[in-house]
Amino acid sequence: MTEHIRLACPQLLAPHEGGYQLLGSRCHACGEIYFPARAACTRCCGTRFDTHGLGRSGVLWSWTIQGFLPKPPYNSGETEASFKPYGVGYVEMASGIKVESRLVVGDGGLQIGMPMQLTLERYRTDADGAPWFTFAFEAVAPAAGKQAAPALAKEHRHAQ
Ligand SMILES: [Zn+2]
Repeated sequence: MTEHIRLACPQLLAPHEGGYQLLGSRCHACGEIYFPARAACTRCCGTRFDTHGLGRSGVLWSWTIQGFLPKPPYNSGETEASFKPYGVGYVEMASGIKVESRLVVGDGGLQIGMPMQLTLERYRTDADGAPWFTFAFEAVAPAAGKQAAPALAKEHRHAQ
């Protein structure tokens, strides 16, 4: 069965190497990189930017566990009773930029400095049963038994 994929943050992602990568912006004048993309550079006040692919790999820089239901605009559809804690933290990308992200907590847990890769996590489900996905990072070699992330490149290309 092929699921129709809906991304909660399509402007932040682009197909890359059979999966996705994060999209930021790079200041045309000074080269500063931002994620998410910006309209003005805080380093040089430049306003010309190029889209900049951040890749899909990084290193875990800091993390914690979100243990209670966040307030709106968080809109996962969960209630305080149904909420499941999740990881959140910063992943340092190859360019040095640190990206705040949801984190998949595998059987091996999370450790600062561990290699991470981009994946998609089911974020909410509509009343008609259609899932929404958001980006997340998971350990590069997740422990056995973890459900594999869905392969989405084909469906996404369809929506371009
Ligand atoms: Zn700049």
